Amino acid sequence: MIVLKFGGSSVGTPERMKNTARIIQNQQADKKLIVLSAISGITDELEKFHKFLKKKNNKSAKDQIDKIQQKHLDFIEELFQENFSIQQAKEFLKTSIHNLLNCLHQPYQSNFEGICLAQGELLSTKIFQVYLAEIHQKSELLYAPDLIHLNTDELPEVISIRKKIQSYFQQFSKTDVFITQGFICLNHQKELGNLQRGGSDYSASLFGAALQAKEIQIWTDIDGVHNNDPRFVNQTSSVKHLSYEEAAELAYFGAKILHPQSIYPAKIQQIPVRLLNTLAPDLPGTCISSHSKNKKTVAIAAKDQITAIRIQSSRMLLAYGFLKNIFEIFEKYKTAIDMITTSEVAVSLTIDSTKNLGLILKELKNYGNVEVDSNHSIVCVVGDFSGKTHGKAAIITDALKHLPIRMISYGGSEHNISVLLPEEYKIEALRSLHARLF
Ligand code: ADP
Ligand code: ASP
Ligand code: MG
Repeated sequence: MIVLKFGGSSVGTPERMKNTARIIQNQQADKKLIVLSAISGITDELEKFHKFLKKKNNKSAKDQIDKIQQKHLDFIEELFQENFSIQQAKEFLKTSIHNLLNCLHQPYQSNFEGICLAQGELLSTKIFQVYLAEIHQKSELLYAPDLIHLNTDELPEVISIRKKIQSYFQQFSKTDVFITQGFICLNHQKELGNLQRGGSDYSASLFGAALQAKEIQIWTDIDGVHNNDPRFVNQTSSVKHLSYEEAAELAYFGAKILHPQSIYPAKIQQIPVRLLNTLAPDLPGTCISSHSKNKKTVAIAAKDQITAIRIQSSRMLLAYGFLKNIFEIFEKYKTAIDMITTSEVAVSLTIDSTKNLGLILKELKNYGNVEVDSNHSIVCVVGDFSGKTHGKAAIITDALKHLPIRMISYGGSEHNISVLLPEEYKIEALRSLHARLF
Protein backbone atom coordinates (compact mmCIF):
# COMPACT_ATOMS: atom_id res chain seq x y z
CA MET A 1 0.00 0.00 0.00
CA ILE A 2 1.30 3.45 -0.91
CA VAL A 3 -0.21 6.90 -0.51
CA LEU A 4 0.25 9.35 -3.38
CA LYS A 5 -0.65 13.00 -2.87
CA PHE A 6 -0.94 15.36 -5.83
CA GLY A 7 -0.99 19.10 -5.15
CA GLY A 8 -3.02 21.75 -6.97
CA SER A 9 -0.47 22.27 -9.72
CA SER A 10 -0.40 18.52 -10.50
CA VAL A 11 -4.11 18.69 -11.33
CA GLY A 12 -4.03 22.34 -12.41
CA THR A 13 -4.80 21.76 -16.10
CA PRO A 14 -6.53 18.89 -17.93
CA GLU A 15 -3.15 17.93 -19.41
CA ARG A 16 -1.58 17.75 -15.96
CA MET A 17 -4.48 15.72 -14.59
CA LYS A 18 -3.94 13.20 -17.40
CA ASN A 19 -0.25 13.11 -16.56
CA THR A 20 -1.14 12.45 -12.91
CA ALA A 21 -3.27 9.48 -13.98
CA ARG A 22 -0.30 8.11 -15.95
CA ILE A 23 2.01 8.48 -12.95
CA ILE A 24 -0.45 6.56 -10.77
CA GLN A 25 -0.77 3.75 -13.29
CA ASN A 26 3.03 3.44 -13.49
CA GLN A 27 3.43 2.92 -9.74
CA GLN A 28 3.86 -0.64 -8.52
CA ALA A 29 1.81 -1.34 -5.38
CA ASP A 30 -0.99 -3.71 -4.39
CA LYS A 31 -3.16 -0.80 -3.28
CA LYS A 32 -2.86 2.95 -3.85
CA LEU A 33 -4.59 5.75 -1.98
CA ILE A 34 -4.62 8.94 -4.06
CA VAL A 35 -4.99 12.18 -2.10
CA LEU A 36 -5.84 15.18 -4.27
CA SER A 37 -5.83 18.94 -3.75
CA ALA A 38 -8.20 21.31 -5.48
CA ILE A 39 -7.31 22.47 -9.01
CA SER A 40 -4.62 25.14 -8.49
CA GLY A 41 -5.99 28.57 -7.64
CA ILE A 42 -9.48 27.30 -6.73
CA THR A 43 -9.03 27.39 -2.94
CA ASP A 44 -7.88 31.03 -3.29
CA GLU A 45 -11.05 31.79 -5.29
CA LEU A 46 -13.23 30.01 -2.73
CA GLU A 47 -11.54 31.94 0.06
CA LYS A 48 -12.33 35.19 -1.80
CA PHE A 49 -15.93 34.05 -2.23
CA HIS A 50 -16.20 33.37 1.49
CA LYS A 51 -14.81 36.85 2.32
CA PHE A 52 -17.42 38.52 0.08
CA LEU A 53 -20.10 36.36 1.66
CA LYS A 54 -19.08 37.36 5.16
CA LYS A 55 -19.05 41.05 4.21
CA LYS A 56 -22.49 40.59 2.59
CA ASN A 57 -21.03 41.77 -0.70
CA ASN A 58 -23.50 39.63 -2.68
CA LYS A 59 -22.69 40.99 -6.12
CA SER A 60 -18.97 40.17 -5.85
CA ALA A 61 -19.80 36.83 -4.21
CA LYS A 62 -22.04 35.89 -7.15
CA ASP A 63 -19.32 36.94 -9.63
CA GLN A 64 -16.90 34.69 -7.77
CA ILE A 65 -19.27 31.72 -8.10
CA ASP A 66 -19.55 32.37 -11.85
CA LYS A 67 -15.76 32.46 -12.12
CA ILE A 68 -15.32 29.18 -10.21
CA GLN A 69 -18.06 27.54 -12.28
CA GLN A 70 -16.60 28.69 -15.59
CA LYS A 71 -13.10 27.53 -14.67
CA HIS A 72 -14.42 24.04 -13.93
CA LEU A 73 -16.65 23.98 -17.03
CA ASP A 74 -13.67 24.79 -19.27
CA PHE A 75 -11.62 22.14 -17.48
CA ILE A 76 -14.32 19.49 -17.91
CA GLU A 77 -14.87 20.30 -21.60
CA GLU A 78 -11.16 19.92 -22.30
CA LEU A 79 -10.46 16.86 -20.13
CA PHE A 80 -13.06 14.37 -21.30
CA GLN A 81 -13.59 12.61 -24.60
CA GLU A 82 -16.98 11.10 -23.88
CA ASN A 83 -20.29 12.87 -23.42
CA PHE A 84 -21.24 10.54 -20.61
CA SER A 85 -18.16 11.66 -18.60
CA ILE A 86 -18.88 15.33 -19.33
CA GLN A 87 -22.46 14.93 -18.11
CA GLN A 88 -21.38 13.16 -14.92
CA ALA A 89 -18.77 15.79 -14.07
CA LYS A 90 -21.16 18.65 -14.89
CA GLU A 91 -23.84 17.10 -12.68
CA PHE A 92 -21.41 17.10 -9.78
CA LEU A 93 -20.32 20.66 -10.52
CA LYS A 94 -23.99 21.68 -10.31
CA THR A 95 -24.17 20.26 -6.77
CA SER A 96 -21.07 22.18 -5.67
CA ILE A 97 -22.31 25.43 -7.20
CA HIS A 98 -25.66 24.82 -5.54
CA ASN A 99 -23.87 24.48 -2.16
CA LEU A 100 -22.17 27.85 -2.70
CA LEU A 101 -25.41 29.52 -3.81
CA ASN A 102 -27.13 28.11 -0.74
CA CYS A 103 -24.63 29.92 1.46
CA LEU A 104 -25.21 33.11 -0.53
CA HIS A 105 -28.97 32.99 -0.07
CA GLN A 106 -28.99 32.35 3.67
CA PRO A 107 -28.04 34.51 6.65
CA TYR A 108 -24.31 34.04 7.34
CA GLN A 109 -23.38 31.12 9.62
CA SER A 110 -19.98 30.23 11.07
CA ASN A 111 -19.91 26.83 9.30
CA PHE A 112 -20.05 28.47 5.83
CA GLU A 113 -16.27 28.85 5.63
CA GLY A 114 -15.72 25.08 5.92
CA ILE A 115 -18.47 24.35 3.39
CA CYS A 116 -17.11 26.86 0.85
CA LEU A 117 -13.45 25.86 1.07
CA ALA A 118 -14.26 22.15 0.79
CA GLN A 119 -15.80 22.48 -2.67
CA GLY A 120 -12.39 22.65 -4.43
CA GLU A 121 -11.22 19.22 -3.27
CA LEU A 122 -14.71 17.71 -3.61
CA LEU A 123 -14.74 18.80 -7.26
CA SER A 124 -11.18 17.82 -8.20
CA THR A 125 -11.54 14.31 -6.75
CA LYS A 126 -14.88 13.67 -8.47
CA ILE A 127 -13.58 14.96 -11.83
CA PHE A 128 -10.50 12.78 -11.42
CA GLN A 129 -12.55 9.70 -10.62
CA VAL A 130 -14.70 10.23 -13.70
CA TYR A 131 -11.52 10.62 -15.75
CA LEU A 132 -10.06 7.38 -14.38
CA ALA A 133 -13.31 5.62 -15.32
CA GLU A 134 -13.03 7.04 -18.83
CA ILE A 135 -9.58 5.50 -19.21
CA HIS A 136 -10.91 2.20 -17.76
CA GLN A 137 -9.15 2.50 -14.42
CA LYS A 138 -11.52 1.33 -11.70
CA SER A 139 -11.39 3.35 -8.48
CA GLU A 140 -13.33 4.04 -5.30
CA LEU A 141 -13.88 7.61 -4.08
CA LEU A 142 -13.77 8.02 -0.28
CA TYR A 143 -15.18 11.08 1.49
CA ALA A 144 -12.32 12.44 3.63
CA PRO A 145 -14.61 14.09 6.26
CA ASP A 146 -15.88 10.57 7.06
CA LEU A 147 -12.29 9.63 7.87
CA ILE A 148 -10.55 12.63 9.50
CA HIS A 149 -12.27 14.17 12.52
CA LEU A 150 -10.63 16.87 14.63
CA ASN A 151 -10.83 16.82 18.42
CA THR A 152 -11.43 19.92 20.58
CA ASP A 153 -7.74 20.87 20.21
CA GLU A 154 -8.25 20.84 16.43
CA LEU A 155 -6.06 17.72 16.16
CA PRO A 156 -6.83 14.59 14.13
CA GLU A 157 -6.45 11.14 15.71
CA VAL A 158 -4.62 8.55 13.64
CA ILE A 159 -6.18 5.56 15.47
CA SER A 160 -9.71 6.63 14.57
CA ILE A 161 -8.67 7.33 10.94
CA ARG A 162 -7.17 3.81 10.82
CA LYS A 163 -10.37 2.13 12.01
CA LYS A 164 -12.53 3.99 9.53
CA ILE A 165 -10.31 3.64 6.49
CA GLN A 166 -9.64 -0.03 7.12
CA SER A 167 -13.35 -0.74 7.15
CA TYR A 168 -13.65 0.90 3.69
CA PHE A 169 -10.71 -1.13 2.46
CA GLN A 170 -12.42 -4.33 3.63
CA GLN A 171 -15.70 -3.27 2.06
CA PHE A 172 -13.96 -2.69 -1.30
CA SER A 173 -11.39 -5.46 -0.99
CA LYS A 174 -11.20 -5.98 -4.76
CA THR A 175 -10.42 -2.34 -5.53
CA ASP A 176 -6.80 -1.28 -5.78
CA VAL A 177 -7.09 2.46 -6.47
CA PHE A 178 -8.79 4.67 -3.87
CA ILE A 179 -9.17 8.43 -4.20
CA THR A 180 -9.86 10.90 -1.42
CA GLN A 181 -9.76 14.63 -0.78
CA GLY A 182 -6.76 16.24 0.86
CA PHE A 183 -7.22 19.23 3.18
CA ILE A 184 -10.84 18.64 4.25
CA CYS A 185 -12.15 16.98 7.41
CA LEU A 186 -14.82 17.33 10.08
CA ASN A 187 -14.09 19.79 12.88
CA HIS A 188 -14.91 19.05 16.52
CA GLN A 189 -18.42 20.44 16.05
CA LYS A 190 -18.90 17.77 13.37
CA GLU A 191 -19.06 20.40 10.63
CA LEU A 192 -17.01 20.53 7.44
CA GLY A 193 -13.58 21.93 8.28
CA ASN A 194 -10.03 21.75 7.03
CA LEU A 195 -6.40 21.26 8.04
CA GLN A 196 -5.42 24.85 7.11
CA ARG A 197 -4.02 26.05 3.80
CA GLY A 198 -1.65 23.57 2.19
CA GLY A 199 -3.21 20.86 4.36
CA SER A 200 -3.34 18.11 1.72
CA ASP A 201 0.25 17.15 2.62
CA TYR A 202 -0.91 16.67 6.19
CA SER A 203 -3.90 14.57 5.03
CA ALA A 204 -1.54 12.33 3.04
CA SER A 205 0.75 11.85 6.01
CA LEU A 206 -2.20 11.06 8.29
CA PHE A 207 -3.58 8.50 5.83
CA GLY A 208 -0.11 7.01 5.33
CA ALA A 209 0.33 6.64 9.09
CA ALA A 210 -3.18 5.26 9.54
CA LEU A 211 -2.62 2.63 6.84
CA GLN A 212 1.01 1.98 7.82
CA ALA A 213 1.80 2.53 4.16
CA LYS A 214 5.07 1.43 2.62
CA GLU A 215 5.68 4.97 1.39
CA ILE A 216 4.02 8.38 1.20
CA GLN A 217 4.67 10.16 -2.09
CA ILE A 218 4.09 13.92 -2.30
CA TRP A 219 3.93 14.88 -5.98
CA THR A 220 4.33 18.57 -6.73
CA ASP A 221 5.75 20.98 -9.33
CA ILE A 222 9.40 20.86 -8.23
CA ASP A 223 11.95 18.08 -7.75
CA GLY A 224 11.68 17.82 -3.97
CA VAL A 225 12.81 20.05 -1.14
CA HIS A 226 15.37 22.60 -2.33
CA ASN A 227 18.16 23.99 -0.19
CA ASN A 228 16.52 27.44 -0.23
CA ASP A 229 13.24 29.02 -1.28
CA PRO A 230 13.29 28.97 -5.12
CA ARG A 231 10.74 31.80 -5.21
CA PHE A 232 13.35 34.20 -3.81
CA VAL A 233 16.76 32.67 -4.43
CA ASN A 234 18.35 31.65 -7.75
CA GLN A 235 20.30 28.45 -8.24
CA THR A 236 18.78 26.46 -5.43
CA SER A 237 19.18 22.69 -5.68
CA SER A 238 17.24 19.67 -4.57
CA VAL A 239 18.23 17.95 -1.29
CA LYS A 240 18.30 14.18 -1.88
CA HIS A 241 17.87 12.98 1.71
CA LEU A 242 16.42 14.54 4.84
CA SER A 243 15.84 13.13 8.30
CA TYR A 244 12.34 13.53 9.76
CA GLU A 245 13.73 16.11 12.18
CA GLU A 246 15.33 18.20 9.43
CA ALA A 247 12.21 18.00 7.27
CA ALA A 248 9.97 18.92 10.21
CA GLU A 249 12.11 22.01 10.98
CA LEU A 250 11.98 23.09 7.33
CA ALA A 251 8.24 22.52 7.04
CA TYR A 252 7.53 24.29 10.31
CA PHE A 253 9.77 27.22 9.47
CA GLY A 254 8.16 28.00 6.19
CA ALA A 255 9.34 25.75 3.34
CA LYS A 256 6.02 26.03 1.48
CA ILE A 257 6.49 22.69 -0.23
CA LEU A 258 5.43 20.90 2.98
CA HIS A 259 2.61 21.71 5.38
CA PRO A 260 4.06 22.49 8.85
CA GLN A 261 2.49 19.47 10.57
CA SER A 262 2.88 16.99 7.74
CA ILE A 263 6.02 15.20 8.94
CA TYR A 264 4.94 14.13 12.41
CA PRO A 265 2.44 11.33 11.55
CA ALA A 266 4.91 9.75 9.07
CA LYS A 267 7.74 10.02 11.58
CA ILE A 268 5.79 8.28 14.34
CA GLN A 269 5.18 5.29 12.05
CA GLN A 270 8.64 5.56 10.41
CA ILE A 271 7.13 5.78 6.94
CA PRO A 272 9.44 7.18 4.24
CA VAL A 273 8.11 10.34 2.58
CA ARG A 274 9.25 10.93 -0.98
CA LEU A 275 8.80 14.33 -2.65
CA LEU A 276 8.59 14.03 -6.42
CA ASN A 277 8.01 16.22 -9.45
CA THR A 278 4.99 15.51 -11.67
CA LEU A 279 6.67 17.47 -14.46
CA ALA A 280 9.82 15.29 -14.28
CA PRO A 281 8.74 12.00 -12.66
CA ASP A 282 12.09 10.30 -13.21
CA LEU A 283 14.09 12.74 -11.08
CA PRO A 284 14.93 11.35 -7.62
CA GLY A 285 13.43 14.28 -5.66
CA THR A 286 13.81 14.14 -1.86
CA CYS A 287 13.49 11.14 0.42
CA ILE A 288 12.64 11.82 4.06
CA SER A 289 13.43 8.92 6.38
CA SER A 290 15.22 8.02 9.59
CA HIS A 291 18.26 6.85 7.59
CA SER A 292 19.40 10.28 6.50
CA LYS A 293 22.45 11.59 8.33
CA ASN A 294 23.41 14.94 6.84
CA LYS A 295 26.69 16.21 8.14
CA LYS A 296 26.49 19.59 6.49
CA THR A 297 24.17 22.55 6.30
CA VAL A 298 21.11 21.24 4.50
CA ALA A 299 18.69 24.03 3.73
CA ILE A 300 17.33 27.46 4.59
CA ALA A 301 13.66 28.43 4.98
CA ALA A 302 11.71 31.42 6.22
CA LYS A 303 8.39 31.95 7.92
CA ASP A 304 6.56 35.30 7.66
CA GLN A 305 4.04 37.24 9.73
CA ILE A 306 5.81 36.58 12.97
CA THR A 307 5.09 38.74 16.00
CA ALA A 308 7.83 39.26 18.58
CA ILE A 309 6.91 40.04 22.20
CA ARG A 310 9.39 41.23 24.82
CA ILE A 311 8.44 41.16 28.51
CA GLN A 312 10.81 43.13 30.70
CA SER A 313 10.62 42.86 34.44
CA SER A 314 12.90 43.26 37.43
CA ARG A 315 10.73 40.60 39.09
CA MET A 316 12.52 38.10 36.90
CA LEU A 317 15.85 38.69 38.67
CA LEU A 318 16.82 35.56 40.63
CA ALA A 319 13.16 34.46 40.58
CA TYR A 320 11.83 31.06 39.68
CA GLY A 321 8.37 30.46 38.26
CA PHE A 322 8.41 33.64 36.17
CA LEU A 323 8.66 31.83 32.83
CA LYS A 324 6.04 29.31 33.93
CA ASN A 325 3.57 32.15 34.58
CA ILE A 326 4.32 33.69 31.20
CA PHE A 327 3.96 30.38 29.33
CA GLU A 328 0.69 29.60 31.06
CA ILE A 329 -0.83 32.68 29.49
CA PHE A 330 0.06 31.39 26.01
CA GLU A 331 -1.24 27.95 26.91
CA LYS A 332 -4.52 29.44 28.14
CA TYR A 333 -5.03 31.13 24.76
CA LYS A 334 -3.85 28.09 22.75
CA THR A 335 -1.08 30.10 21.09
CA ALA A 336 2.12 28.30 20.12
CA ILE A 337 5.47 29.96 20.82
CA ASP A 338 8.10 29.50 18.09
CA MET A 339 11.31 31.13 19.33
CA ILE A 340 12.40 32.20 22.78
CA THR A 341 15.42 33.99 24.23
CA THR A 342 15.93 35.12 27.80
CA SER A 343 18.15 37.45 29.81
CA GLU A 344 18.20 38.13 33.52
CA VAL A 345 15.57 40.86 33.21
CA ALA A 346 13.67 40.14 30.02
CA VAL A 347 12.23 37.39 27.88
CA SER A 348 11.58 37.67 24.15
CA LEU A 349 9.42 35.22 22.30
CA THR A 350 7.64 34.91 18.98
CA ILE A 351 4.20 33.74 17.90
CA ASP A 352 2.64 33.35 14.46
CA SER A 353 -1.01 33.38 15.42
CA THR A 354 -2.27 36.76 16.59
CA LYS A 355 -5.85 35.56 17.04
CA ASN A 356 -5.73 36.08 20.81
CA LEU A 357 -2.93 38.66 20.93
CA GLY A 358 -5.05 41.33 22.65
CA LEU A 359 -6.04 39.00 25.50
CA ILE A 360 -2.47 37.68 25.85
CA LEU A 361 -0.99 41.19 26.07
CA LYS A 362 -3.53 42.24 28.69
CA GLU A 363 -2.42 39.41 30.97
CA LEU A 364 1.29 39.75 30.19
CA LYS A 365 1.18 43.37 31.36
CA ASN A 366 0.69 42.09 34.91
CA TYR A 367 4.27 40.80 34.75
CA GLY A 368 6.19 43.80 33.41
CA ASN A 369 6.65 46.12 30.44
CA VAL A 370 5.54 44.54 27.20
CA GLU A 371 6.78 45.50 23.72
CA VAL A 372 5.31 44.08 20.53
CA ASP A 373 6.92 44.04 17.06
CA SER A 374 4.82 42.64 14.23
CA ASN A 375 5.74 41.82 10.60
CA HIS A 376 8.90 39.88 11.34
CA SER A 377 10.31 36.75 9.66
CA ILE A 378 12.07 33.78 11.15
CA VAL A 379 14.90 32.64 8.89
CA CYS A 380 15.89 29.12 9.79
CA VAL A 381 19.05 27.28 8.78
CA VAL A 382 18.77 23.49 9.03
CA GLY A 383 21.76 21.18 9.21
CA ASP A 384 24.09 19.46 11.64
CA PHE A 385 24.72 21.89 14.49
CA SER A 386 25.55 19.31 17.13
CA GLY A 387 28.07 20.05 19.87
CA LYS A 388 30.86 18.59 17.76
CA THR A 389 30.58 21.21 15.03
CA HIS A 390 32.46 24.51 15.17
CA GLY A 391 32.01 27.97 13.74
CA LYS A 392 28.61 27.52 12.06
CA ALA A 393 26.94 30.23 14.13
CA ALA A 394 29.80 32.60 13.30
CA ILE A 395 29.32 32.02 9.55
CA ILE A 396 25.59 32.66 9.87
CA THR A 397 25.90 35.85 11.90
CA ASP A 398 28.69 37.07 9.61
CA ALA A 399 26.48 36.49 6.55
CA LEU A 400 23.77 38.58 8.22
CA LYS A 401 25.96 41.27 9.75
CA HIS A 402 24.49 44.02 7.55
CA LEU A 403 20.93 43.19 8.65
CA PRO A 404 19.07 44.13 11.86
CA ILE A 405 18.69 40.84 13.75
CA ARG A 406 16.10 40.97 16.52
CA MET A 407 16.64 37.48 18.02
CA ILE A 408 18.91 34.45 17.54
CA SER A 409 18.08 30.90 18.60
CA TYR A 410 20.89 28.34 18.75
CA GLY A 411 21.02 25.01 20.53
CA GLY A 412 17.27 24.42 20.86
CA SER A 413 17.82 21.39 18.66
CA GLU A 414 20.93 20.05 16.94
CA HIS A 415 19.35 20.74 13.57
CA ASN A 416 18.40 24.37 13.59
CA ILE A 417 19.77 27.89 13.96
CA SER A 418 17.09 30.56 13.61
CA VAL A 419 17.18 34.32 13.45
CA LEU A 420 14.35 36.81 13.65
CA LEU A 421 14.43 39.98 11.59
CA PRO A 422 11.97 42.48 10.08
CA GLU A 423 10.10 40.96 7.12
CA GLU A 424 11.56 43.44 4.61
CA TYR A 425 15.04 41.93 5.13
CA LYS A 426 13.96 38.32 4.65
CA ILE A 427 14.90 37.94 0.98
CA GLU A 428 18.29 39.57 1.49
CA ALA A 429 18.89 37.24 4.47
CA LEU A 430 17.97 34.14 2.40
CA ARG A 431 20.26 35.23 -0.45
CA SER A 432 23.17 36.24 1.72
CA LEU A 433 23.04 32.99 3.71
CA HIS A 434 22.79 31.00 0.48
CA ALA A 435 25.91 32.66 -0.91
CA ARG A 436 27.88 31.86 2.26
CA LEU A 437 26.58 28.40 3.06
CA PHE A 438 26.28 26.66 -0.32
P1 ADP B 1 1.41 21.84 -4.21
O1 ADP B 1 0.36 22.63 -4.93
O2 ADP B 1 1.89 20.68 -5.01
O3 ADP B 1 1.04 21.49 -2.81
P2 ADP B 1 3.02 24.02 -3.23
O4 ADP B 1 2.85 25.25 -4.05
O5 ADP B 1 2.29 23.96 -1.95
O6 ADP B 1 2.68 22.77 -4.17
O7 ADP B 1 4.57 23.74 -2.94
C1 ADP B 1 5.50 23.71 -3.99
C2 ADP B 1 6.16 25.06 -4.10
O8 ADP B 1 6.83 25.37 -2.89
C3 ADP B 1 7.25 25.12 -5.14
O9 ADP B 1 6.73 25.38 -6.42
C4 ADP B 1 8.15 26.25 -4.62
O10 ADP B 1 7.86 27.46 -5.25
C5 ADP B 1 7.76 26.40 -3.15
N1 ADP B 1 8.88 26.22 -2.22
C6 ADP B 1 9.17 27.04 -1.18
N2 ADP B 1 10.26 26.61 -0.52
C7 ADP B 1 10.69 25.50 -1.15
C8 ADP B 1 11.79 24.62 -0.95
N3 ADP B 1 12.65 24.78 0.05
N4 ADP B 1 11.92 23.59 -1.81
C9 ADP B 1 11.07 23.40 -2.82
N5 ADP B 1 10.02 24.20 -3.06
C10 ADP B 1 9.82 25.24 -2.24
N1 ASP C 1 -6.35 23.27 -1.66
C1 ASP C 1 -5.79 23.61 -0.37
C2 ASP C 1 -4.96 24.88 -0.49
O1 ASP C 1 -4.83 25.43 -1.57
C3 ASP C 1 -5.01 22.50 0.25
C4 ASP C 1 -3.75 22.09 -0.48
O2 ASP C 1 -3.58 22.42 -1.64
O3 ASP C 1 -2.90 21.44 0.14
O4 ASP C 1 -4.48 25.35 0.51
MG1 MG D 1 1.12 22.53 -0.95
